[in-house]
Amino acid sequence: MGLIVQKYGGSSVADAESIKRVAKRIMETRRAGHEVCVVVSAMGDTTDELIDLAKQVSPILEGREYDMLLTAGERISMSLVAMAINSMGGDARSFTGSQAGVITDQSFNKARITSVTPGRLRAALDEGAITIVAGFQGVSETTKDITTLGRGGSDTTAVALAAALGADVCEIYTDVDGVFSADPRLVPKARKLNRVAYEEMLELAASGAKILHLRSVEYARRFHVPIHVRSSFSQHEGTWVRAKEEKVEGETVEQAIIAGVAHDTSEAKVTVVGVPDKPGVAAQIFRTIADAELNIDMVVQNISAAATGRTDISFTLPVGDGRRAITTLQKVQPMIAFEALLFDDQIAKVSLVGAGMKSHPGVTAVFFEALSNVGVNAEMISTSEIRISVVCRADVVKDAVAALHTAFGLDAEGGEAVVYGGTGR
Ligand code: ADP
Ligand code: ASP
Ligand code: MG
Repeated sequence: MGLIVQKYGGSSVADAESIKRVAKRIMETRRAGHEVCVVVSAMGDTTDELIDLAKQVSPILEGREYDMLLTAGERISMSLVAMAINSMGGDARSFTGSQAGVITDQSFNKARITSVTPGRLRAALDEGAITIVAGFQGVSETTKDITTLGRGGSDTTAVALAAALGADVCEIYTDVDGVFSADPRLVPKARKLNRVAYEEMLELAASGAKILHLRSVEYARRFHVPIHVRSSFSQHEGTWVRAKEEKVEGETVEQAIIAGVAHDTSEAKVTVVGVPDKPGVAAQIFRTIADAELNIDMVVQNISAAATGRTDISFTLPVGDGRRAITTLQKVQPMIAFEALLFDDQIAKVSLVGAGMKSHPGVTAVFFEALSNVGVNAEMISTSEIRISVVCRADVVKDAVAALHTAFGLDAEGGEAVVYGGTGR
């Protein structure tokens, strides 16, 4: 007997039938003698639908009311899951993020969890109840306003609660059988990974593999929470995300050099053309961007094709921040004296991740050979110790991912990876 945190994603609670199926699964865990704390996402594509609705009434998609609106989705599913369990004879009680003690900073839309005070959850668990918590939301310690944790943030709610309650495991139930060597929606030959080290999972998540919210992995690593990613549609063992050093009983296979290939089509590229090539100018550009609270990803600087003595600086950022980056930079154009701004949202980032690459020479060569064999041009390149990423045209992302997947011997021999549900939205 132990304490298990289970998180069910949107596709696992997409409709009434799914909610009953999940309720049954939760009941089985409770009946096996475990204490169970459940975190739920909004049903299906509810969050996207709420965003579409917001767009119809306002051009401003941020701030207090926007976060309040988005938390509604999770409140619907938490109460329905609790009602389903109770109708099966269980004792379930639902809690909003705020009631569950999920305390955050005050940045709407991408709040960070600063502490968790799960007193009400603990009390309910002590009474033998199953607690059902609305994911993706918290309350600001200072303003007392309701906040959201960023898209996909229910994973982070689950890991944070697992840490605070001292759970034995945080199970993340989704619409695929675990973490694969590539997104199974893009690569049917993707292979399920039995285990992934936190470091690799961090790079995969940061590179666009939305199977886990990046912050949930950061949190799990910091608080040593083992994550088990698995499907709510099957009984298969999923993927264990845990520390590299941890020995798992019966495990003898040597860790692979490459964990997988991730892709991300959610970024855009801004190019500042004809920047005076002298010290301090790049600093001015990036200070301007930082002061506007825009997060950038990759950066490259090239000799400008336009004129000598000038350079072009390109950077990538979330596509939704593109307009703000352009208007912010336009304001400082007279001061910095660059020539023009270009905006390109038809890009994709493709990344190869593997802890083994730091000790195996030749990975970079195979990487670029594979891309060139399918005619993919790398427009920007960035690396870490265990990752190589390139920016390419969005319309060749599937070819690029498939080519790398094959070149590094990741293609599964058996059948195709199963995607049980979800719309991939
Ligand atoms: P949930 O609603 O359960 O949180 P998400 O849609 O957020 O589910 O995440 C699951 C999806 O992540 C899968 O359906 C799959 O398309 C995508 N995905 C991207 N990269 C990977 C990967 N490496 N392994 C498994 N799934 C991945
Ligand atoms: N419902 C939120 C989203 O769609 C949070 C989550 O599912 O984790 O992003
Ligand atoms: Mg998710």
